[in-house]
Amino acid sequence: MKDRQLRKKQNDKISRAVCAELNSGGGVIKAEIENENYSFKTDGIGLDLENSFGNLLPCVRKYLDFMQQDNYFLIFVKSWSSEIPGLKIVTLSSNLYKRDITSAKVMDPIAALEFLKDRKERGEVLSPKPLSPPKRLCFGVQEESNIEAAAADFFNRTKLKYKEKLTFTESTHVEMKQFSTEKWFQRIKEILPQYVSAFANTDGGYLFIGVNEDKQVIGLRAESSDLDKWKGEIETSIRKLPVYHFCGRNREIKYSHKFLGVYDEGHLCGYVCALKIQRFCCAVFAKEPDSWHVEDNRVRQMTVNEWIRFMVDAEPMPSEKTTYVPEALYMKLLLQHEGLAQVVHKAVGSVHQGTLIFSRSWSLDLGLQENENVICDALLISKDCPPTVKICLCNIIPRPNTMKAVQRDTLKNTIEKSKCNSKQCKRNPQEDRKKLKRNEQQREQTKQKMGDLSPNISIITLCTWSICTS
Ligand SMILES: [Zn+2]
Repeated sequence: MKDRQLRKKQNDKISRAVCAELNSGGGVIKAEIENENYSFKTDGIGLDLENSFGNLLPCVRKYLDFMQQDNYFLIFVKSWSSEIPGLKIVTLSSNLYKRDITSAKVMDPIAALEFLKDRKERGEVLSPKPLSPPKRLCFGVQEESNIEAAAADFFNRTKLKYKEKLTFTESTHVEMKQFSTEKWFQRIKEILPQYVSAFANTDGGYLFIGVNEDKQVIGLRAESSDLDKWKGEIETSIRKLPVYHFCGRNREIKYSHKFLGVYDEGHLCGYVCALKIQRFCCAVFAKEPDSWHVEDNRVRQMTVNEWIRFMVDAEPMPSEKTTYVPEALYMKLLLQHEGLAQVVHKAVGSVHQGTLIFSRSWSLDLGLQENENVICDALLISKDCPPTVKICLCNIIPRPNTMKAVQRDTLKNTIEKSKCNSKQCKRNPQEDRKKLKRNEQQREQTKQKMGDLSPNISIITLCTWSICTS
């Protein structure tokens, strides 16, 4: 049991780190291997991690590479490239729930995005729907609103009879639960966030706890003196749920709850905990969304505001702005030098789409003085302003066990490669001929600019202290 818990804990930790690196421009995760007999060649990555990565990514191999180096397990993570339209970040769990006929289900990232966009568009006009009986039963016609109306009548009762059978069933608006355990209040607190989130995000509804699967009133064993305490705890638990408003009105979650007395032959024998939740104007979370990023060299969970901004708003993540080439060199540099990813993000932070090309030798090629603290040069070509080229000199702490230097690319070849890989080349294949000519011209222009680079170079020296603040 302990092993299973430990495995889950480690699995969660690695999943969060992968999620954070995907959302922060890629990087390397270095995990110490405790099991002396472990070998990547014979044991692989294990089913737990495989399942976690599979749930997180549409194609694991496209984003992750694995390697064992002595007693370290390395995961090379590429930057999330938003291949699912509109999804700018990856998320382990949105923690946004919705009602799906008779159950509360967590929205996957795509469903969450749809929901948030819908709420954003309709937020200002979507008022909380009051949960009053919308329709009375009509002869010969039965629909979901009849169930809701019957549930409303049940909610308004003051006395219930032990083992009486309810005249309605579970639906989008109704959920029934029964806990026979002594610790039933603990269980209520565990399930409450997801049911409140689901009802509030869908169409409102009723949660009755103390009614079994056969729709019979059983009740929860409780002392009447404890009811106020439990009411207070339920209220605190609902008030603590994270919410996000697009509407700007900052309304709170509207609900009411009560304990309905259950009587067996005239004697009070328990209570049904009844909760009525109204539809919410915007979004209610069961807890903070499970999505991570790297901040100040640490893996940190996004706040609701950050997550919604990345999910819904137009501003892309830094990781989406640039492509890094040659990718193998970038990955090796990340592995060798702690903090490189953050330095790179800062350097390209304000630039829109572009290509960042790494080399170990350009500063020398350009006749700049050799500086042994400079571990790489990075050339940033921005697509938004092609004539502007800048060079960053990265001065970063090497990791203790540096690996061999990798093969150097010449400036010319790398520029050619980046142009061929650029999105501009891929976008309109039907205009091949025109494009080809234009590309030739651009290439010539770039070559000329590279030949006369000095006036356009801005050199940023990033000092070691700037990446060691944590
Ligand atoms: Zn709102």
